[in-house]
Parts: sequence; C-alpha cells; structure tokens
Amino acid sequence: MVMWVRRINMEEIEKAKRAMPHYFEILSGRERPNFSYAKQVKVNFSKDGPLDELWKAHEEGMEKLRENDLSENPEKNLLDLKALIANRILEKCELCEIKCRANRNDSTGYCRVKESLVASDFLHLGEEPELIPSYTIFFSGCNFRCVFCQNWDISQYRVGLRYSPKEMAAKISIAYAEGAKNVNFVGGEPTPDLPFILETLRYVKVPIPVVWNSNMYMSEITMKLLDGIVDVYLGDFKWGNNEDALKYSKVPSYWEVVIRNFLLAKEHHRAEFLIRHLVMPNHLECCTKPILRWIAENLGKEVRVNVMFQYRPEYRADKYPEIARMLSYDEMKRAVELVSEFGLKNAMVG
Ligand code: SF4
Repeated sequence: MVMWVRRINMEEIEKAKRAMPHYFEILSGRERPNFSYAKQVKVNFSKDGPLDELWKAHEEGMEKLRENDLSENPEKNLLDLKALIANRILEKCELCEIKCRANRNDSTGYCRVKESLVASDFLHLGEEPELIPSYTIFFSGCNFRCVFCQNWDISQYRVGLRYSPKEMAAKISIAYAEGAKNVNFVGGEPTPDLPFILETLRYVKVPIPVVWNSNMYMSEITMKLLDGIVDVYLGDFKWGNNEDALKYSKVPSYWEVVIRNFLLAKEHHRAEFLIRHLVMPNHLECCTKPILRWIAENLGKEVRVNVMFQYRPEYRADKYPEIARMLSYDEMKRAVELVSEFGLKNAMVG
C-alpha cells in the first residue's frame, strides 16, 4: 500500500514538473521566488502621492522587472509600492470583482473582512503531492457564499488571530526552516487580505514560493498587483456557466471574470498554474465539460489540473437536492473520460 501510494505520488510529481518548471527550479534553489525579485526593482514614488502617480510608477517598475533590471537593496522597491497601492485601495475597496467599495479601515466589506484575521496556519499535508508540506495560512472571510462550503465556519465568519506583517513573516520563515515547500495563502479567500499579504512579504527573507489559493474572482487592479509576486496560481475553476455560479456561490458574471483572470495570469511574470476543479453531482455536462474544454483550448493541454472527486454536501447543500449527495461512480467515470477527451496530459484525477 505504501509503495503504491509512493508510486502514484511520483507519477504526479513528474506531471507537475512538466507543467510547473519555474516552481521546481525554486525548490531546487536554482531560481528565486518572484517576490524576491520585486524587492530588487528600484522605483521612485512619494508615499503620499496620488494613486494615478503610484500606478504609473508601478507600470515602470513592472517593465524593469520584465527586463531583469535589478538593483541591490534599492531604497524603495516594487514590492513596497505594491503594498502601498493595495493599502490605498482599502479606503474604497475594489480588491475583488464584487467591488463593494467599503472603507476597510473603518468597516467590514461584503466579504466580512476588515483587518486580516488568520483562522489557522499549519504545515498542510493534504494538498497535491508537489505542494506538500505546504505552509497554509487560512484567512477568515470570503467574497463567495458557496452553499456547500466545507470551510463555512471560517469563510462566513470573522474569526482568527491578528498578526502584524512582521510576525506573519517570522512564522513563514519558521515554516520554511521546518520544511515547507511554499507559503499557501487561502481562506475563505485571500483576495481581501492582499494588503496584509504584500506587507508580510516585504519582511520575508527566505526563498519560499508563493501559492495564491483562490477562487480567481479578483478585480483587474488586484491582478496587476499580483503580477510579479505569485509563483503558482492554485486557482479554483468551479462553474462552467453564470447561472450555476449565481445559484450556488451567489456571484454575478462568474465565467467572464474568472476566464479573464486566468488569461491575465497566463501573461504574469513567471507565474504558473495548478487549477482545481471540484466535480459536482449533476454538473458534469454544464460545468466540468466546458471548464476542461476551456482550459485545454486557452491555457494549453500541458497545464496542471486537479479534477477532484472530494465533494461532500456540507453547510446548506441539503437545500439543493441536486447537489445533496456525493458523486456517483458514473459521474467519476465521465470526469475521467472528459480529461482524456480534452487531452489534459498533466491532470491529476480523483
Ligand atoms: S475584497 Fe471584500 S471589501 Fe473588497 S471589494 Fe471584495 S467583497 Fe468588498
């Protein structure tokens, strides 16, 4: 049994290596994580300057990053600037596509986040083989209202501990020393916590890759700030149409926003994907099929995808009879057929 599990894991790691070479280069020490390069990009900006000037400086900084125009310990760097812009956005929050424009310095947004609260953090051994052990930081709050949420006790409530960015950075360094392969920002959803995450990374000195474990419902400005920071987009692709997204996750325009963000992330500096799709009962033809087709046609057949069979009807799923059960054997079989039909070579299924 142990041998069998080990063999499966080795096969999965080989697939991941083909799909995510940059991530494995960081693990081997031949490359560095993206945020460490952003710290070496010299930018000029005034802390109190207007937002449009900060964005202009950001554009210049991104250009330097792409051209590998780096400096040793610049006085102001691109990561500092990104953190400053993200903090400014909090005053009228548009970090995610809900764009509720709450002043997060005074009040919670639609996502129920004001200041960042960490519900739990630990070395996670239950993620994909290429990620484990993964230092996973679960923030509370979420911009989705998935009726089947397995983490509803943290995603729909304000719970957890408050850390300073310096304290969080110290925890990341300890996790790295204990063998963490990456720092995995999740929730709920990490997007409302972007300012805190960027502030934290300013103090991180260890070469740990950044995994953005997200529903991919970020706004375009958040996508700009993530460019040059994220090494792996661990992006959920939940719904193949807007009707289901509205019904079960309570979000509008899901398909347009999420495909836009996957396409933007594809162009991000040295970023790679590990896309998760949770197969839902009675949603193979309307969701699994169009999602896998879109991935194959737009992100390529080499992309790393995890087609997951772990769905359990939790939280309020019993109010929706069509999803109030586990997957059937035929549904799992159909998902396997779809992976092969669309030629996704590096997919993990099950
Ligand atoms: S991240 Fe939260 S506060 Fe910001 S726009 Fe989205 S829902 Fe509103």
